[in-house]
Amino acid sequence: MNTKDILEKGAILQRDRETYAIAPHIPGGFTDTATLRKICDVADKYKLEVKLTSAQRIAMFGVKEEELDAVWADLAQAPGAAIGLCVRSIKICPGTQWCKRAVLDSASLGLKLDKIYHAMELPNKMKMGVSGCLLACSESGVKDIGIVGHNKGWRILVGGNSGPRPRLAELLVDNIQTEEEVLEIVAKVVEVYKNDPQQGRLGRLIEEKGIEAFRAAVLGSQDAAVGK
Ligand code: SF4
Repeated sequence: MNTKDILEKGAILQRDRETYAIAPHIPGGFTDTATLRKICDVADKYKLEVKLTSAQRIAMFGVKEEELDAVWADLAQAPGAAIGLCVRSIKICPGTQWCKRAVLDSASLGLKLDKIYHAMELPNKMKMGVSGCLLACSESGVKDIGIVGHNKGWRILVGGNSGPRPRLAELLVDNIQTEEEVLEIVAKVVEVYKNDPQQGRLGRLIEEKGIEAFRAAVLGSQDAAVGK
């Protein structure tokens, strides 16, 4: 009987205590037919079951420990950060390329964030969500860092999470005009979070500090921060 996840192989021990689930990294859930065929071929070869996850990945269940390396080699894909204390996922909606309601290009911004932050080690797990309009299909309101596009620019929310103590994200800053500015602000949020001694999720830190103090720590000027 196995007892633990195998972090370095992206393998999550399953209920049978024998087999593992893995999930290749599929940034924002954007993929192509060749990648999907590869996943299907590997699933058939090793007799795995597949499931679409809420993190916009495809989980593959039933991997034997002794086959983990071969499965990853056959997939020729990197693991998604589904476990461990790190940036787990950047959820991204289809955005202006496809969605008729999109106001801003969530895919462009989200994929940049994915490149920078996916799997980055942090004091606790962190999730991000980038949505192209106020409908917020990427669940930006319950992400540690949630970003929403609207007619006046980007809105950045912080401190949301679901789980046993669900928490709605709070407004950090609004009406940000460019992706570059958003990236700079997210970098500061992550820096403040990383350097704080508390080890909980970002929402816990904001609860302790208060959103105004957190905003000041990240941005300095509160007026600029809330988009006044
Ligand atoms: S958040 Fe808005 S832009 Fe994104 S998929 Fe939903 S409706 Fe479309």
